[in-house]
Amino acid sequence: MELKRIRNIGIIAHIDAGKTTTSERILYYTGKTHRMGEVDSGEATMDWMDQEQERGITITAAATTCTWRDHQINIIDTPGHVDFTAEVERSLRVLDGAVAIFCAVGGVEPQSETVWHQADRYKVPKIAYINKMDRIGADFPGVLGEMKEKLGTVVLPLQIPIGKEAEFEGVIDLLAMKELRWYQEDQGAEIHVSDIDASRAEEAAKARERILDVLATHSDELTELYLTGGAIPLEALHAAIRKGTLDGSFTPVFCGASLRNVGVQPVLDAVLDFLPSPVDRPPATGHHVKKDDAVVVPCRADGPPLGLVFKLQANREAGNLCYLRVYSGRFRDGQTIYNISKKKRERINRLLRMHANHSTQIEQVEAGDIAVIIGLKDSQTGDTLGSEGIPILLEKMHFPEPVISVAIEPKTLSERKKLSEVLKLLSLEDPTFSMKDNEETGELIISGMGELHLDVLVTRILREFKVEARVGNPQVSYRESISRETAHVEKYHRTLAGKEHSAQITLKVSPLPRGRGNTYENALPHGALPDELLEAVERGVTGAFGSGVVYGYPALDIGVTLTDAVFHPSSSSVIAFEAAGALGFDAACRLAGPILLEPVMAVDALTPTEFLGEVLGSLNARSGVIQNVESKPGFDHVKAHAPLVNLFGYSTALRSITQGRATFSMEFSHFAEKPGGFAAAGGR
Ligand code: GDP
Repeated sequence: MELKRIRNIGIIAHIDAGKTTTSERILYYTGKTHRMGEVDSGEATMDWMDQEQERGITITAAATTCTWRDHQINIIDTPGHVDFTAEVERSLRVLDGAVAIFCAVGGVEPQSETVWHQADRYKVPKIAYINKMDRIGADFPGVLGEMKEKLGTVVLPLQIPIGKEAEFEGVIDLLAMKELRWYQEDQGAEIHVSDIDASRAEEAAKARERILDVLATHSDELTELYLTGGAIPLEALHAAIRKGTLDGSFTPVFCGASLRNVGVQPVLDAVLDFLPSPVDRPPATGHHVKKDDAVVVPCRADGPPLGLVFKLQANREAGNLCYLRVYSGRFRDGQTIYNISKKKRERINRLLRMHANHSTQIEQVEAGDIAVIIGLKDSQTGDTLGSEGIPILLEKMHFPEPVISVAIEPKTLSERKKLSEVLKLLSLEDPTFSMKDNEETGELIISGMGELHLDVLVTRILREFKVEARVGNPQVSYRESISRETAHVEKYHRTLAGKEHSAQITLKVSPLPRGRGNTYENALPHGALPDELLEAVERGVTGAFGSGVVYGYPALDIGVTLTDAVFHPSSSSVIAFEAAGALGFDAACRLAGPILLEPVMAVDALTPTEFLGEVLGSLNARSGVIQNVESKPGFDHVKAHAPLVNLFGYSTALRSITQGRATFSMEFSHFAEKPGGFAAAGGR
């Protein structure tokens, strides 16, 4: 498919606004045209829809492809929750445009408000569809007002409703200046077009006038046509609307009632007419692994292959489904490709396109398009696929610091086996959590990026995979460090099985700047200690990093230097020097003013301006340090740092002080000394 004819879109909606109903209608109408071109007319579309309604069209695919007016639309599922920056970024970067669905009664609700602002930050062009015009209380102008106020956007209604609530009949198309109606007999498949009724002519003329006013302020060509009073051709209007939508000057608005099959096709038309194709978007940027540089990746099928795995659906029978957005070049069925993130070769066993209720095998997928790869063994969500010679990453490798953990204790041995398997599957879908097996206690510790993250994981483990297990309370993972430089002489002497083992070393430990990690250095003169003993000391010291200084949390930002060693040919042994390394490290650190480090999170909150005071206050109360407040019309974007331990339960607290309208996401920022230290954390 020609690039210009591809649309990668997401549907943004508050729960219950009608995302599922509208998607189903979209797949029905598009499937129908597809079918009519494909099979002979003997097949009744009615049957097809009835059948589908019985089974329920499965829109569980992370990306579903449909065809409309000779264009290919890939509908990409957007995540339901927006708590993790990396996930939001990823989902917004794979789509080129979005359709926001609002309920004509509920209006602009908090969840869609947040996602809208997030999409704004990534400059994703949007159109809006006001659904449920048939419901009691439907208020088209009211929702437009809320869009202006809460979303800070210039609304450009390209339709007005004909009637409302039970009397909702259809819409007036203000560009064609026609009335459009749909009927139940054919499930709304055909649009019935008629002239505007005299009783509505004046209202329609006014509404059209408003469109021209808005467009005139954004398009010089239109202003000219407008001023000369000549008729404005439809193409000129379309071009001006497309341009303004792409650059975010305004948002075209449509309306309908998906459940009554009213108004869906014009939205599909608008997706083609006003939302960007992959080449209308700024090219993706990648990250050159070797040069450590940002590189622009032009969307071209003849470029080197480069694609992002934006979703992985683990599947035991069929093999994992890897959803790939291709940014450059092409990927072919049967080809061997290179996972640049994992530095591993992988083979494409099958290449699929996912449709509403089936998938089709395809030969290849090109830049700008989306497909599912089957057969990849080591690839995960967030990985970049390409070829071996071109080490460009589309998403910087994320090594999320597991800062919060929870213990899961399976009820039986067989449940334990099951849990291990489930965790393996889950970790492929979600690369941002880690796990540790505690064989002594039989517990599995899973660590993640935040409270909600663990909550989602634990819920899936217990509900979706039905593992029977006890789950502990989430715990913050602390680190331990030191506050001053100290030297310590460690003397080791033991007789083991009649043989003497002795070692003497001097270790200097120094606090390093935050974020440096731990280092080990040998400063002995050359030849002072045999190599195998030098290695033994290093093993002993670095092995002790993991178990900390006082409380057993991992050590962090400690520099260790071996400054002296005493060697006796008769009794010096590997065992002794390794033990001296470990014991010496512990002893030196205990003398070096041990401190506790706690994870500090970067908090990113979006709030309507009227609640800014409350939000800042709530962050202050949690020892948050405000970094930046960016004001936009109607809302503010707050960035702050706050200790993770103070953020437990914050999403609930934030919702309650802002009537549910502010939201936040967070990710690990850095470790900082915990005020009050070990006493405040209560040890472990
Ligand atoms: P989602 O949560 O956004 O996916 O919303 P759904 O599509 O599941 O719709 C939520 C509820 O609203 C369902 O009971 C639908 O039948 C109903 N609904 C969807 N569209 C309309 C509409 O146009 N009019 C009316 N009256 N109800 C609708």
